[in-house]
Amino acid sequence: MGRAGLGRRVRAVVLSLLLILVSFAWPATSPGNRVARAAQVAFGQAPILAYHNVDYSGSEYSVTPEQLDEQCRWLVENGYSAITLHQFWEAATNSGKLPPNPVLLTNDDGWASAITFAEVLGRHGMAGTYFVNSVSPLTAEQILLLSQLGSVQAHTSNHVHLSGLAYEGQLAEIAENKAYLEAITGQPVHFLAWPFGDRDDSAVQAAAAAGIIGAFGLGGVTADLLAIDPYHIPRIMMVAGDDLPTFAAKVGG
Ligand SMILES: [Zn+2]
Repeated sequence: MGRAGLGRRVRAVVLSLLLILVSFAWPATSPGNRVARAAQVAFGQAPILAYHNVDYSGSEYSVTPEQLDEQCRWLVENGYSAITLHQFWEAATNSGKLPPNPVLLTNDDGWASAITFAEVLGRHGMAGTYFVNSVSPLTAEQILLLSQLGSVQAHTSNHVHLSGLAYEGQLAEIAENKAYLEAITGQPVHFLAWPFGDRDDSAVQAAAAAGIIGAFGLGGVTADLLAIDPYHIPRIMMVAGDDLPTFAAKVGG
């Protein structure tokens, strides 16, 4: 074989190696496989999104109904599954099974627009988790409705910084709010979101004494289901400036 023939052989071998590489690489970059791979990578991880108002105020912690709708559609189209609080807790504490790419959508304070939040999620077949203060403007009928569409949980009576209170005050803020919500919904309240994400060791003890078994803060990171700290569960704050790429980055962690 001359030099030219050898060159052709080498080129043919290189070409067939390239073809083999491409045939292996191609499925991994198709949309379906990207979703499957994302599910594997995300195993044990569940972003918990913390929303507040859903309106056109433009304030930092508001999103518009259209923005929320677009975000819900993005979750569906990208293979995410909105899970319930119960599903989340079972997976975190009892090895409960979750669908691929789980995400928990929560709404704080019990603003009147919590109803809008429920309506938008409902269009996408998603259930929300609502952390409601006793001073919320929602009527008892509306709080009951939210508990039927999703889950209503504690956020203290008056939305104060708990670390600024002594133990008795912390216990009253949590226990009275819990009793208020349970009387309206007829369902047990076992979870809490710390107002402002603020708590101290004493507040954690007060929550436990009041019958709270899990409490959500902020922190901005994706929750690791395999190593959950039950009274310090991190959530990701959703804000007015979240365009879709920002939203995707927050959810994707
Ligand atoms: Zn709040």
